[in-house]
Amino acid sequence: SKKLPPLQSFLVQVSRRASHLARQQYDVIVVGGGHAGTEAAAAAARVGAETLLVTQKIHTIGALSCNPSLGGVGKGQLVKEVDALDGLCGRAGDWAGIHFSILNRRKGPAVWGPRAQLDRQLYREFIQSELLSTPRLTVLEGSVEELLVTEPDPEEPGHHRVTGICLANGSQPISASSVVLTTGTFLSGSLFMGQTSSPGGRIGDAPSSAGLSQTLRERLGLRIGRLRTGTPPRIVKDSVDLSLAELFPSDSTPTPFSFLNTHTRCKPEDQLPCHLTHTTPGVERVVMESLHLNCHIQEDAKGPRYCPSIESRVLRFPGRQHQVWLEPEGLTSDLLYPQGLSMTMPPDVQLRLIREIPAMHRAEIHTPGYGVQYDFVCPTQLSPALQVKNTQGLFLAGQINGTTGYEEAAAQGLWAGVNAARWALSLPAVMLSRTESYIGVLIDDLVSRGVTEPYRMFTSRAEFRTSLRPDNADLRLTLKGFEEVGCVSSLRHQEAVRVRDSLQDALEALQTLTVSTPTWRKKLPNIHISEAKNTIVTGMNMLQYNDVSFEMLASAYPECLSPYMEFSQRLKIEAVYRPHCDLQKKEIERIQKEEKMSLPQDIDYFSLPVSLSQEVREILDRVRPSTVSLHIQCICYFPKSFFLAAEEPIYQS
Ligand code: FAD
Repeated sequence: SKKLPPLQSFLVQVSRRASHLARQQYDVIVVGGGHAGTEAAAAAARVGAETLLVTQKIHTIGALSCNPSLGGVGKGQLVKEVDALDGLCGRAGDWAGIHFSILNRRKGPAVWGPRAQLDRQLYREFIQSELLSTPRLTVLEGSVEELLVTEPDPEEPGHHRVTGICLANGSQPISASSVVLTTGTFLSGSLFMGQTSSPGGRIGDAPSSAGLSQTLRERLGLRIGRLRTGTPPRIVKDSVDLSLAELFPSDSTPTPFSFLNTHTRCKPEDQLPCHLTHTTPGVERVVMESLHLNCHIQEDAKGPRYCPSIESRVLRFPGRQHQVWLEPEGLTSDLLYPQGLSMTMPPDVQLRLIREIPAMHRAEIHTPGYGVQYDFVCPTQLSPALQVKNTQGLFLAGQINGTTGYEEAAAQGLWAGVNAARWALSLPAVMLSRTESYIGVLIDDLVSRGVTEPYRMFTSRAEFRTSLRPDNADLRLTLKGFEEVGCVSSLRHQEAVRVRDSLQDALEALQTLTVSTPTWRKKLPNIHISEAKNTIVTGMNMLQYNDVSFEMLASAYPECLSPYMEFSQRLKIEAVYRPHCDLQKKEIERIQKEEKMSLPQDIDYFSLPVSLSQEVREILDRVRPSTVSLHIQCICYFPKSFFLAAEEPIYQS
């Protein structure tokens, strides 16, 4: 129940800090205070680097540009992992959440998706307050105009080195050993509504300077592509007839994201519901009639397949009804966020369109929807540490790498921040394998495959998802984060060690609890036990039965199991997945060994005396992988599936 300072006092404190900014030299500079930048800055400072976060507007630090929600299927796993590495977004979600639910409950717990609807204001305030109280971190309001980079070293041709940044206000350049760029949708950003377009990174915010994009493209020679995304209009809540939509309450017991929290700030009885409604044929008619008024949808840049605009949905699936979720924007907000109605047509057409939905037949628009197009850097030009391969000390994270979503940005930000700090402190880079985390999957997908459309996380992308569960992210990452990476506080580490030890004791107790089947039948008469008569069965075997809970076993054998009641759900999940995870262990060890085999960057794939087709050699030459990852092995077997990503777009203005 930490008390947050009001926003105003925060701003005063920050500007005071900024005006006393005596330093012109930092270990790490992070550019951008979005979801990637805030995690990067906090992580770099936790690792021990003197860090400066420079962002265009302090009061937009931690802003949710689009949907007021966090987590979901695949994305929830990322939030849990960021939290396990002591990042901010999980705790911020627990503070700001106003509707918690676990998605995908009909499937196994490995692919459950923890999700929360957020209060925008509370989320921002939490992130800002956390950053302000992070030791070794300074926050500065300003726009970065230019990156300072050296010419390639004759000793190491093609290798630049970043040395700092220049601000747009003409003040003295600020030097740093490493810089993390997290400019989101702002790099050469253009906003679209109807037939008009204007420069901007987000509504109300100017784009990043053209100089920055130019340095990346011309000075560093990076391949840059163009992507687009959009956001729906915000609707006045009182103008919507919610009785015509289906009610979706939150879970009766909200599940916090953070391993440090046992409950969420918003009590179950105070949580706000969401509502579900659907598009009608009238919506489709308005879209089709107004296509000629909508230049965003006709542009060349690729839009998000998984969060598409209503225009794209209608064009792709004509005649279908589409879901529209009406989501609260905050505890005291008068607005609703209509998820599924992202659109870029002129405002009067947007109003006509939403009024075709019965629940919104008298709805009023507070802010119209709009689209944004922006530059991204093709991420195969990065190492698994998220460092630009040809520029020492330059790291990229978030939407600038072609991803979409807060969670994907936060996960990359944390990892780029860690590695930027380690680079600055002359420590070796650290990697996360795709066999140990969703963050590893995300980074490996980006740097070895690249993207052809905005990338978002799904559980299906993780080959070892039965091991990479939301419930065990702390066991997978917190200990490593403390011992090898240096980004986890000792407080969190102690808690993770306590949990690990208790779980080990509990699993041992379950394994040593051996009882004959007749005794089990007596103890649990309602459970059908399939084992043969008079066999000896362990507590672990019993817990693997669908209908047997840990609570049942603990009430039958309280003397050995009741001390572990705190972990009842985790133990049940662990027992169910253990046989499958044990089977995967060998395969995981093999892949991890191969991932550690680094490949020289100057390798000549065309003269390599191994049996590889010309097609495979061309892709490897283009991608220049840093290690023998799972993807790289796949390239050799399925080159066709890699052609698209390897054929990355070249910038065209
Ligand atoms: P951002 O959150 O965009 O943060 C970038 C930060 O960098 C900003 O604070 C900006 O002020 C700062 N900055 C930029 N340039 C400079 C500079 N030169 N100097 C200093 N500071 C700078 N995600 C989804 O998952 N689904 C969606 O449907 C979706 N729709 C979206 C629609 C719109 C219109 C927008 C704008 C975003 C949308 N997003 C969506 C994306 C989501 O907002 C991002 O994925 C996420 O915010 C990316 O985080 P980030 O940290 O990379 O960038």
